Amino acid sequence: LPYPVAIVGAGPGDPELITLKGARLLSEADVVVHAGSLVHPKILTHCRPGCELHDSAPLNLQQICEIMISRQKAGKKVVRLHTGDSSIYGATAEQVKELDKAGVPWHIVPGVSSFQAAASELGAELTIPGVSQTVILTRAEGRSSGMPEGEKLADLARHKATICLFLSAALGSRVEEDLLPAYGPDCPAAVVVRATWEDQQIFRCKLSELFKTLKENKVTKHAMIIVGEALRQEGEASKLYDAAFSHGYRKADA
Ligand code: SAH
Repeated sequence: LPYPVAIVGAGPGDPELITLKGARLLSEADVVVHAGSLVHPKILTHCRPGCELHDSAPLNLQQICEIMISRQKAGKKVVRLHTGDSSIYGATAEQVKELDKAGVPWHIVPGVSSFQAAASELGAELTIPGVSQTVILTRAEGRSSGMPEGEKLADLARHKATICLFLSAALGSRVEEDLLPAYGPDCPAAVVVRATWEDQQIFRCKLSELFKTLKENKVTKHAMIIVGEALRQEGEASKLYDAAFSHGYRKADA
């Protein structure tokens, strides 16, 4: 029986931040197509010796899919390794469409996304009761990415939710300008560069200093920007552990 192509989330960097299932599939793979410099080289140590490795960075969609389709049809175990979780800016939809056209079965194994890794490294909960109960995952509008109607940063900003910006480090002035009216100049911001890599950097600043902070530290890529009052980590305590609050698993103290 042919093996379905496994689309695996590699996690943010640290080779231990891949799921057990992802690591197992890598260790069994005959062919791995990985997302170049965004996937930590140590992740590939999960692969067995002799595994056929392809860096997808210099390849176009057709070339990437051609490798996956031809190898899968030859009966090989193929893993497509994406950075973080493949559901977020993973170009997954367009790849599986090609696999479907070729009649190649596939399945997806989730990964730890970089916004989660950045929050962990900041020691931050992104949903603080009474402050923000919503997380927005988005990006600033770039060269290749027109934002759909209703999703412009300035529109999203009106919610004042905790906002995590992918692919936006080089667009800092835009981010600052679009978020300032709603969030205000003193709103806390954080930049995590190469979260969980050996050379990770963390910068914390006020929203009004975000562009300056990115510029002074020459941050142009591989960074997660998080903005929101929740970063202060101060709000109402959650009812979940409140001694006076009963729920399905615990009676309130008398
Ligand atoms: N699927 C990935 C995102 C791919 S888009 C995920 O779930 O994380 C690439 C963007 O992700 C980068 O521009 C950066 O904003 C972010 N990113 C990926 N890995 C990162 C890391 N280790 N640290 C900080 N940001 C990262």
